[in-house]
Amino acid sequence: MAEHDSPWAGAIYVDGRFRPPAAGGSLPVRDKSSGEVFDLAGGADTAEVDAAVASSLIAQREWAARPYGERAAILRKAAAALEQAGGFAELIVRETGSIAGKADYEIGAAAGELIEAAALASRPVGEVLRTGHADRFSVSERVPVGLVGVITPWNFPLVLGMRVIAPALALGNAVLLKPSPETPVSGGLAIAEVFDQAGAPPGIFQVLPGGEEVGRRLVEHPDVAMIHFTGSTAVGREIARTAGSLLKKTSLELGGNNALLVLDDADVEQAAMIGAWSSFHYQGQTCISAGRHIVGRQVADAYLRDLTDRAAAVTVGDPLRDGTGLGPIINDAQLERARRLLDDAVEGGARILTGGTNEGRFFRPTVVVDVDPASALWTEEIFAPIAPVAVVDSADEAVALANDTGYGLVSSVVGSDVHRATEIARRLTCAMVHVNDATPQDEPLAPFGGIGHSGLGGRAGGDSNLEEFTERRWRTVASSPVHYPY
Ligand code: NAD
Repeated sequence: MAEHDSPWAGAIYVDGRFRPPAAGGSLPVRDKSSGEVFDLAGGADTAEVDAAVASSLIAQREWAARPYGERAAILRKAAAALEQAGGFAELIVRETGSIAGKADYEIGAAAGELIEAAALASRPVGEVLRTGHADRFSVSERVPVGLVGVITPWNFPLVLGMRVIAPALALGNAVLLKPSPETPVSGGLAIAEVFDQAGAPPGIFQVLPGGEEVGRRLVEHPDVAMIHFTGSTAVGREIARTAGSLLKKTSLELGGNNALLVLDDADVEQAAMIGAWSSFHYQGQTCISAGRHIVGRQVADAYLRDLTDRAAAVTVGDPLRDGTGLGPIINDAQLERARRLLDDAVEGGARILTGGTNEGRFFRPTVVVDVDPASALWTEEIFAPIAPVAVVDSADEAVALANDTGYGLVSSVVGSDVHRATEIARRLTCAMVHVNDATPQDEPLAPFGGIGHSGLGGRAGGDSNLEEFTERRWRTVASSPVHYPY
């Protein structure tokens, strides 16, 4: 998958082949560390969406009618093709500005999604129901939703796409993917190459790189039966409004402002390691990063010292260089937003213990205390390697502070008394909670999702995918026509 022989140069992926968009649009593929444009992807427009929808609908009917084993086999082949795809990890590193470890994680996790989805294809398609009618056969059967429009962000472009594409295809749907314009290749066209190599039939999986207008058309198109969106809460709201008026099935995986609770009996060294990973991993640019550290007073000084030391020790720079811990912030707009959040908080009285500086888009991991709980740094999603820390006097205060947000994605609780930590975890209002571990967690079999401002719709992973990508149909059969009074 080296640059020179990339099949996607200047292309979109439709009807089972890479071809230039009819209107000739293109998107630069940028190395986020150097700023260099190292490739060009095709840029779709709304006419391409309409054409791709039409061919997807035809392909989906044939795909859904195939024996499940054929769908499963293609997903397994795609997993093998992904694992063997030389160069995919480097693409992720360059396009997302992440270190190699995060790219390797994405490839392993995406292959895991494909393998689990292959197993999903053979799951029962419904249940035989008891019925109060003599001579009636009554079943609840699962049928594919149809055509699923998938819109993804740039931060984990491969795995966030695959966790939707793979189960949707396994269950007989077709997928039209619009990746973020920041990651048209690792979030789209390179995934298409994997399915192409696996022998996926034309039209069941198509990729249309593009901007907002392509996403909007996908949402508005009457023949797109479902929209699966992963991205910001602001865009999620807009999609919910449009899809709501069209009565379209949607699944929205949105932002977070996640709390990490460090209890007063925590092992400080362990807690600080978990805290550092939760806030700094991939420059803090994940929906499941910790944006709020809530720490018991008895351990607060030691925790701040240890967290500050860990932050100060991280090497920030070119992710392709050995020993680099953090790469660049994805783009200037995100950098300026992070700077503004931090600078405003400092103006409001917050103190920076380490970091707080940036060289271009390379932002030093930052620990900050005395943050006004009304400041945007505390109330909004940060998406940069910044760890705001608040000190509390009791577990009740920690729970109240953690729950004082409209978001509801993930929280973590760290403490030596596991029973107590678990009881506190159960009081937190969020869709995912971890005891004695970092906030960024994901597994193919676990129900990943959010409540409140963090999500709407279903969950990704395991059996949740059956609910997500099928509709229930009640079917009855009488062995002879039933008589009525008139
Ligand atoms: P974004 O919302 O700006 O964009 C996401 C996608 O939506 C992109 O493909 C974009 O082109 C498209 N888009 C933008 N406007 C649109 C519109 N009006 N209609 C249709 N599509 C539109 O998000 P981003 O900056 O790419 O990603 C970061 C955000 O994603 C963060 O808020 C993060 O928390 C969230 N996220 C959530 C999860 C999760 O699982 N909950 C996972 C990763 C990222």
